[in-house]
Parts: sequence; structure tokens; C-alpha cells
Amino acid sequence: MSATVFDKIINKQLPADIVYEDDVVLAFKDINPQAPVHVLVIPKHKCRSFADLDEVNTGAVGQYMHAVAKIAKQLTGDAGYRVVFNVGKDGQQTVDYLHAHILGGKQLSWHPA
Ligand code: AMP
Repeated sequence: MSATVFDKIINKQLPADIVYEDDVVLAFKDINPQAPVHVLVIPKHKCRSFADLDEVNTGAVGQYMHAVAKIAKQLTGDAGYRVVFNVGKDGQQTVDYLHAHILGGKQLSWHPA
């Protein structure tokens, strides 16, 4: 598996605007934000894609999803938000390292296709 930009952020070889970190996940601001809140949450234990989640034990998947929900709540309060996993070519996944986009901070529109 070749190192992606997110591997380099995890390894502190590249800077990032980190908003949350614990033993399981790292969350940082997207460099090209699509909403007032646009944060990426990645697991510290690498998985390439949402499509590869079956390779991860369910306990770790649960910890990851709990962290995504906690961070989204911290950043957006009770106003709501969107969580997006882009997968593969048709999903326009550009970084081969599992990442959840948390988008919010405004009334979002819905035009993903
Ligand atoms: P995706 O298209 O789902 O693979 O999303 C990858 C996201 O990573 C894009 O929204 C990029 O703007 C974001 N991105 C790429 N490089 C960086 C970086 N160095 N720091 C923060 N976000 C990045």
C-alpha cells in the first residue's frame, strides 16, 4: 500500500489543521472546504476505503463511527450535518485512505448527482 497524503498527515510528515485526535481517529479541516464546517475523520489504523470496511473488525468500525458522530456534534451542535464517504472512481474518491467528510455549519443543499 503506497503512502497517501493522509498517511503523511497521520505520521506528522505533513501539516494539517487538526480539530480532534484520540487513540482511534484523527480529524482535520479539509484543505478545500465545501461548507463552513468541512472536516475529514480518518482512522489511525489504516483502511483504504469504505468499501474495505469488511477487513476491519466490527469493534474498531464502531469506535470509528462513534468518533465521527462525536466530532460532528462538537462542531455543529444540534443544527445537523452531513457525513459523506466517497468510494472509488464513480464516487470520486481521490485519496485511498478511508475518510468521512463531515459537512455543516449552514443549511446544506442536496445535489450530489
Ligand atoms: P475524496 O474526494 O472523498 O477522496 O476527498 C479527499 C479530500 O481530501 C478532498 O476534499 C480534498 O480537499 C482533501 N484533501 C486533500 N489533501 C488534503 C490535505 N493535505 N489536507 C486536508 N485535506 C486534504
